[in-house]
Amino acid sequence: MMGESEKRLGNRLKTAAEAIRGAEYLTAFSGAGMSVESGIPPFRGEGGIWNKYDPAVLDLEAFVRHPGRSWPVIREMFICFLGADGRPPAQPNEAHRVLAKWEAAGRLKTTITQNIDGLHAAAGSRNLVEFHGHCRTMTCLDCGRELPLNAEATRAAVPRCACGGLLKPDFVFFGEGIPPGALEAAEEAARKTDCMVLVGTSGVVYPAAAIPQLAKRRGATIIEVNPEPSDYTERIVDLFIPMKAGAAFLRMDALLGPR
Ligand SMILES: [Zn+2]
Repeated sequence: MMGESEKRLGNRLKTAAEAIRGAEYLTAFSGAGMSVESGIPPFRGEGGIWNKYDPAVLDLEAFVRHPGRSWPVIREMFICFLGADGRPPAQPNEAHRVLAKWEAAGRLKTTITQNIDGLHAAAGSRNLVEFHGHCRTMTCLDCGRELPLNAEATRAAVPRCACGGLLKPDFVFFGEGIPPGALEAAEEAARKTDCMVLVGTSGVVYPAAAIPQLAKRRGATIIEVNPEPSDYTERIVDLFIPMKAGAAFLRMDALLGPR
């Protein structure tokens, strides 16, 4: 027999699916919790990279002064995301795949992610705002040349451009601005959206955390998928789904049916 809490959860999933089906401009907004089921631990918290390293090594000024201290951390993050030295690359999980499927079907207009692991792109999301950049390339701080960030590059103690300049990976360091266009694109989506699904984000990293707040002020329905409540839950969320991302998206997708 179905328990009371399972029944309640089923009802919430059904209501979420109805909101998603009825949305004119559906957006998704994801954070670290999205990638946990792909084997990527959140940077903050248990097993995270910041339990092992001082986050200050990924401060832009510190990087420019002591790049040799930053690169071992960058290398470790890179291997975790894209694989190297016998470790396979992380794979998109069911939640990434469902979002890409909804976009392909015309159901989902924009995905905004705070993650730099590239898994939304790998799953096939196209209209994607990578709010904190990504790990695919690095840019010379002197001449602006862009080079691929690959396993070979991370093997150098400090990768250098042919011009001798320092190469910085194209994800956002602490003390660095949001990539040109990303903030504008995210805000534009937040203004247009009438339904935003938050997934795996704690709502504590600004300015990203302000995007769902903007959507809410503009009247959007806010759905949150998170195993635990977040900073958003009490303040702006209309429908809280206390589940891991993969299972929640599979069930919502099944309730939506084909389009
Ligand atoms: Zn250069």
